[in-house]
Amino acid sequence: MYWIEKELELWAGASLERSLRESSTVSKSPGYTVRGERVLLNMSSNDYLGLAQHPAIIEVMREALLTEGAGSGASRLVTGNRPAYGRLEAELADWQNCEAALVFANGYMANSGVIGALVGRGDVVFSDQMNHASIVDGIVLSRAEHARYRHNDMEHLRTLLEKHRDKRRKLIVTDAVFSMDGDQAPLRELAELKREHGVMLMVDEAHSGGIYGLRGEGLCHELGLQDDVDIHMGTFSKSFGVYGAYICGSRTLIRWLVNKARPLIYSTALPPSIIAGISKALVLVQNEHWRRERLYAASKLFRSSLCNAGFKIGAGDSPIIVPVIVGDNAATLRFSGALEKAGIASVAIRPPTVPDNTARIRFSLSAIHTDKELTDTATLIRTIGLQQGVLHP
Ligand SMILES: *Cc1c(COP(=O)(O)O)cnc(C)c1O
Repeated sequence: MYWIEKELELWAGASLERSLRESSTVSKSPGYTVRGERVLLNMSSNDYLGLAQHPAIIEVMREALLTEGAGSGASRLVTGNRPAYGRLEAELADWQNCEAALVFANGYMANSGVIGALVGRGDVVFSDQMNHASIVDGIVLSRAEHARYRHNDMEHLRTLLEKHRDKRRKLIVTDAVFSMDGDQAPLRELAELKREHGVMLMVDEAHSGGIYGLRGEGLCHELGLQDDVDIHMGTFSKSFGVYGAYICGSRTLIRWLVNKARPLIYSTALPPSIIAGISKALVLVQNEHWRRERLYAASKLFRSSLCNAGFKIGAGDSPIIVPVIVGDNAATLRFSGALEKAGIASVAIRPPTVPDNTARIRFSLSAIHTDKELTDTATLIRTIGLQQGVLHP
């Protein structure tokens, strides 16, 4: 096992080592997190709509725990399929205006399982170079050929589609909003290419579900493209504030997945309390549009405060993801360390999560941040960035 220490030394030497740090919640102030003795403004949470500590969600989860118990006891195909699952899936299909839905334990398992159920040896998956790791792992597990296209480059994708014309099954898969830059996939063009080449299209709405659309359905709905997408994927772990994931599509697709998606078949069903929490969150996500409006306003304010200070913030205009690109790994770590000293929890994102020399602080916004918290944060970013000489306005 000696080799591990050697490898770790190299990893740490390049400022790439990660460690597990404790972050506790502050129940009266959901926008904050506790690290050690200190309360920090949480600018790195995926609780975009501020639902993770919503009393109504917690209450239904508590009731479900008392009536249904702690665990579901088995896989859904065995005896773990509680009635609440079917009810939730009907609500999801209605929300997404599609024939059927299927709940997975989390987004990682949904992506890694669904891709493997749709393609295999002799098939091909066209995947954006910046897609989430769970999509990449799904492709590897499926044993299909991985045709990676340059980020959002439709000409490159077209070339690859031509090249693999003769493959058996073909699938295009993309994030709707990319996790590290907050930019959007060209969904209209992807839908056109899908029709032109007769391939399947799968869209991961992990960072757009709950955020776009009048009822938070996601970016595909916002653009009127829902019917062009064969496989809609989204999570309940981010804007829903709970845990879990969904796939929406045709009845045939869902029937196939029940038979072929291994993470669904060979893993225990989510506990009933989680299903209850998701159902309640789904009602709030659909009805409390003010949370989305607050998020749009907050991100406009935060982005413009940073731009006015002269900083390079990623290409996207996502209401939730605002990356400040530093470049060097060690400098990015020093930067997030100084922000923490100043009272802000932020995370340095480094390779291999992002390409080399594009290490960054990925700020994420929440509907519960106030204007003052955001403008104060922008001012601090400016002051610290200048002090450290890592940012050059
Ligand atoms: C977070 C994320 C996932 C994984 O979802 P979990 O529910 O956290 O497992 C999948 N895809 C994308 C794009 C994500 O950002």
